[in-house]
Parts: sequence; C-alpha cells; structure tokens
Amino acid sequence: MRIDIITAIPSLLESPFNDSILKRAIDKKVVDLKIHNLRDYSQNKQKSIDDYAFGGGAGMVLSIEPIHRCIEDLKTKFSYQEVIYMSPDGELLDQSVANQLSLMKNIIVLCGHYKGIDERVREHLITKEISIGNFVLSGGELPAAVLCDSIIRLIPGVLNDESSALSDSFQDNLIAPPVYTRPAKFKDWEVPKILTSGDSKAIEDWRYDQSLKRTKQRRPNLLD
Ligand code: SAH
Repeated sequence: MRIDIITAIPSLLESPFNDSILKRAIDKKVVDLKIHNLRDYSQNKQKSIDDYAFGGGAGMVLSIEPIHRCIEDLKTKFSYQEVIYMSPDGELLDQSVANQLSLMKNIIVLCGHYKGIDERVREHLITKEISIGNFVLSGGELPAAVLCDSIIRLIPGVLNDESSALSDSFQDNLIAPPVYTRPAKFKDWEVPKILTSGDSKAIEDWRYDQSLKRTKQRRPNLLD
C-alpha cells in the first residue's frame, strides 16, 4: 500500500512513523509512506501556502494552488483510490472505515491547518472526508497519523501475530476482553484463576463472555 500525506507542517508527522509498529511496517516495505511539504508546491517568492479568507474573519486559509499542484503531480505518477481530507465535519473514523481503507492500494491524505482549506479543494479534488471525532484540533497532522495508524496495523505482515488485529476491540462488533500479565498476584490483586488454568477452551469461553459483558456495558449500540 502507498500513502501520500500532504501537509503544511511535515515535522508534526515525523515521530508517529519513526517508532514501533509503524516504523517496522515502513522498514519492511509493507507500506510506502511519503510525506509531502505543501510549501514545496508554492510558486510564489515567499513560498506562501495560505491567505486571508475572502469576506474577512479570523484565521488563514490554505490556498488551492499548491494543494492542486501537489495532488496533480502525485496523480501523474500513481493512481489513487481515494483522496482523503482530514476534516472535523467528515465521516467519523471507526474500525469499519479503517478496515475498508486498509484494503486500498494507493491513497492521498491531505491535512488542513489554520482555519481550514479553500472549499474548492473539497468540492473538486477530494473524494472522501474523515474526522477523528467531534472536536477541533489545530491541524490535520495528528488526525492523519491516527488514521494511518488505524489502517497500517491492519495490513497483513505488519503485526507479528496477524490474529492480534482481529481480536482487538470493534472487530466483530465486540470490545476486547481484559488482559493481564505477570505477576499473577500483586499486593492482594490476583488475575482471574481461569487464565492460569491452562485450559484453552475455558479461557476462550471466558474471554468471549467478558467481551460480551463489556460491550453491553460500554458500547451497547454495537450489539444492535
Ligand atoms: N475551521 C474549521 C476547523 C479547522 S481546524 C472548522 O470549524 O471546521 C484545522 C484543520 O485541522 C482542519 O482543516 C482539519 O484538517 C484538521 N482537523 C481539526 N480537527 C479535526 C478532526 N476532529 N478530525 C480531522 N481533522 C481535523
């Protein structure tokens, strides 16, 4: 899979992809992730990428020209199934959105900043808009990192144990059961006996019951 992220502030995206599971996925070439600096696509002397909003009001708006140039440049080299804009009013990201996107071959992810982006980008260049929740952040970089993490960890070969992603919360519309590790007793807090019993069938049944119980308590709508 290839993911091209377009951003006004590339340094905000360095750390999320430089450690742990995402770094390993990139090193193993399971995913080809490229970060593009919008400023490289500005053609004016000041390398500016934003301007005041028509009609006035606070906050700068990312201009259409550099965004258009960057997307068109990428499209001459690759064909994309989705050109995604991270936006607070987009479709809410959930596990099924992540599952669908993890099956794609090439996607572009555009991060907004400041007051947002020129609406004509959304009208003419974007095919999908995704929100990570009903709140407003300063830029689309953290949401893009969240989106990419949720997608990349699902690609076969990224997690060491592939079944791990399938047993996480929201797959099969269930919340994951609780997990414990050594020591089996800390102060007088013990792990459930069944987990140390060695009876794999009983453990599997217990985990399923716990999942169901948690889902009923915490996300009953998943069971509808
Ligand atoms: N003025 C806009 C908010 C702009 S926030 C509004 O009121 O809707 C600046 C940028 O941060 C946005 O362009 C978007 O790319 C990103 N962003 C902020 N919150 C987000 C969220 N919850 N999900 C996805 N992207 C978000």
